[in-house]
Amino acid sequence: MKYDVLIDGGEVIDPSQRLRGPLDVAVAGDRIAEIGPELPADQARHVIDARGRLVMPGLIDLHVHAYRDHTTLGLDPDPLCAAGGVTTMLDTGSSGSHNFPGFLRDVIVPAQTEVLALIHLSASGLATFNRTGELLDRALADPAGVVATIRAHPRVAVGVKIRATARLMGRGEAGRANLQDAVAAAREAGTMLMVHIGETPMPVPEILELLEPGDCITHCFKGGSERILDRDGRVWPQVREAAERGVIFDIGHGSGSFQWEVAEAAIEQGFLPQTISTDLHTLNVNGPVFDLPTTMSKFLRLGLSLEQVVERSTLAPAKALLRDHEIGTLRPGTRADIAVLEEREGSFVFTDSMGTDRIGTRCLRAAATVRRGRIVPGGGGWYPHRQEVNA
Ligand SMILES: [Zn+2]
Repeated sequence: MKYDVLIDGGEVIDPSQRLRGPLDVAVAGDRIAEIGPELPADQARHVIDARGRLVMPGLIDLHVHAYRDHTTLGLDPDPLCAAGGVTTMLDTGSSGSHNFPGFLRDVIVPAQTEVLALIHLSASGLATFNRTGELLDRALADPAGVVATIRAHPRVAVGVKIRATARLMGRGEAGRANLQDAVAAAREAGTMLMVHIGETPMPVPEILELLEPGDCITHCFKGGSERILDRDGRVWPQVREAAERGVIFDIGHGSGSFQWEVAEAAIEQGFLPQTISTDLHTLNVNGPVFDLPTTMSKFLRLGLSLEQVVERSTLAPAKALLRDHEIGTLRPGTRADIAVLEEREGSFVFTDSMGTDRIGTRCLRAAATVRRGRIVPGGGGWYPHRQEVNA
């Protein structure tokens, strides 16, 4: 047998190779072996029938919370992979310098799915979530510990996280000092900094002054007091400038961080996010977020093309992680992480973080997933939440 897995008869969308069309994808071992028309199915140990389905690089979710049992937010990464076609996920600061070793031992190493981590500036990460702000006590800020953690685990600890919300990191001098500590840690470690915005103690343009190419603003379409829009609802010019110089604007949908009105205003003004991510955690996995294909479907509703949506969930997050030589692509020789999605047509209710609904006509869901060359058990599922109105 030439191949271990053949994904047969699907429509391939791979923005990394500007590829779209009816093609087969063959896997040998944990690598993509070949991609082309009419590959021999009798040469494959396992065949996935992808007729009528979309075949793309394994999805990459740039914002999840996967430190299960140790934080109230944490989800199990492997079921998330099976349900959503996500083969690499970035945990965004669930752990800090004091509890990253537990995250590594209890979740990252045993998980079949690739889990990468941003290290929170707070030594305790999000262990105190919803009880107190993780940086309200300045004594918890541990920039040296962040740098040491990243240096000790460079393959999995890939950057720094801070939640720049007044009630979480403090206002005035204290808030500013925390933000500066996070920036300094990222610079010293030579990694990305992800800043969560929302009720920030300073306007978003002030935060952007501190960010460099490769850094990331998550929750970019959040509503509330401080947004990427000015008081008149226009995208701040500093936001456009930051995006042009390579600051990544990421969705991080979450329970409170994706608002239809902000998304519609920004996209109408020509401002698109660079990456589409979920911020999946225990408080939103049963709605309104559910999984990454649902968040991707919301961007189809917002008028992005299927290629634009796939690029922002595969190639773009791979680049943000500096891993596009290995993931977010179906190039032969790269790791065989593959998502097979079904696109349904009908009438679907999509709810944002504020409880506002929009009706969409196209809905994506995971149908099958290949992770490091192996078919993920239980991959694909159809969730009752994404109600078909007039199907
Ligand atoms: Zn988050």
